[in-house]
Amino acid sequence: MDQKLIYRDDDINYLTCADELKRIHEPFARRGVVHTVAVEMFGLWENKSLWRFLNSDPLIEVGLHGWQHNMHSTMDRSTLFEEFDMSLEYWGRRGGRKEITTYYPTWNRVSPELVMACEDAGLKLSPDRSEYAWQFHYWEVTAEDVEDVLSGKMTGKEKQKQIKRNETAIA
Ligand SMILES: [Zn+2]
Repeated sequence: MDQKLIYRDDDINYLTCADELKRIHEPFARRGVVHTVAVEMFGLWENKSLWRFLNSDPLIEVGLHGWQHNMHSTMDRSTLFEEFDMSLEYWGRRGGRKEITTYYPTWNRVSPELVMACEDAGLKLSPDRSEYAWQFHYWEVTAEDVEDVLSGKMTGKEKQKQIKRNETAIA
């Protein structure tokens, strides 16, 4: 398995249904592939089954997407630092077992202030998008979609196009 590539699943938050996320995670578990989730920290601990799952499954890698889904690229360094620091403290204080090392930018937008705030908070900024095997949202995909990508039947890009097409067809 090539773990230089990242399977990035965004916007996991306190409203996320743990069972749904587990269904999407099954193909990752079967293949022993790391499933990276970018979380919004606000209230996360309140969702006990999600909290437990994120902390216990060895193939879930937890990254930070923010305290809430804010446009971080327009915020100043100190406000960002406070938000990141608060998020990491929340995670640690409630017994988050995994180390959160990386911030994944909302809307993939980065600014110089954001780069500095990540450094201040001891967070790595997510790698260049070219290193993403696939960026998706768990609620847009099925376990079969994940299987298609992990098995190499489709690339992440092709899968994303297919999902967009289906959405348009429904709309
Ligand atoms: Zn997002």
